[in-house]
Amino acid sequence: MFVFGPIRSRRLGRSLGVNNVPYKTCSYSCVYCQLGRTTTYTVERRCFYDWREVVGEVIGFLRRFGSEVDYVTLVPDGEPTLDACIGKIIEGIKKEASVRVAVLTNASLLWLDDVKSGIMEADYISVKVDAVSEDVWKAVNRPHPVLKLGDVLSGVIEFSRGFRGVLVSETMLVHGVNTGAVRYEEVARYLKNLNLYKAFIAIPVRPPAEPYVEPPQEREVVEAYEVISHVLGSNRVELLNTPEPPPDRAYGDPEAWLLSTASVHPLRYEHAVKALEKVSSNPEEVIESLVKKNLVVKIHYAGTTYLLRNFRKAL
Ligand code: SF4
Repeated sequence: MFVFGPIRSRRLGRSLGVNNVPYKTCSYSCVYCQLGRTTTYTVERRCFYDWREVVGEVIGFLRRFGSEVDYVTLVPDGEPTLDACIGKIIEGIKKEASVRVAVLTNASLLWLDDVKSGIMEADYISVKVDAVSEDVWKAVNRPHPVLKLGDVLSGVIEFSRGFRGVLVSETMLVHGVNTGAVRYEEVARYLKNLNLYKAFIAIPVRPPAEPYVEPPQEREVVEAYEVISHVLGSNRVELLNTPEPPPDRAYGDPEAWLLSTASVHPLRYEHAVKALEKVSSNPEEVIESLVKKNLVVKIHYAGTTYLLRNFRKAL
């Protein structure tokens, strides 16, 4: 199953997710990654699945529930641009449906021409810019060893010059790793080179890959906002410091919905219950049965219980 959701996204409204890359296949292993450490650490691009099947599933969903989708978003369990068929998927979806397509990328491969041209036709692209100096980039994103920061940064600038859709950036703040006025200033000066609609400042709100990861303190978030706004203008900077809104509802088979959604986004227990009420008379039973089968695990983080797909079992 390639599609999940739709989930409500702070930036994209009702977003139908597309999981076009196998679990934790990524060119980064960010310390804050909500999916845990990267297991398939690679920069090698290939078509992981038959792109026609991916497009077919998206179109099938849109035919039934299209009025409830604002964006189709390529936001897999890893880095979407590692998929060498991403261009065909975007083209196929746009050919068959009048829907906007978004890609949330770590931007590490945008220096490659094929990647640039593959995602050029998307309507909305979010690029990750957590750090622009070598030591901090390595500490926060833990990039694949063949990647060079200079290539990554210039690739994003070059892409931004040709891209006609909405380009935004996302900077995740990790306390003590990429926080501090000097760091914010250097990120802001770099972002100024991009043709950005908005620069988002995010904080880790879900269980991170590494236990030492701490969200920034309030003072650090305000400082980041002030410093970056000073360089870019306050109308171009926004905080993403609250959890995503809960999903409106589940769709189709309750267990399949929960498995596919919890494989990409750790779900708050109470939000899962509410969404499942639309398709099941006993949502708790659906959840507990998957927990019992060890397909879903409960994670307690910052006073909240989350549900996450148990990938050890799924693999
Ligand atoms: S946060 Fe994104 S880019 Fe970073 S390791 Fe996780 S999937 Fe990869």
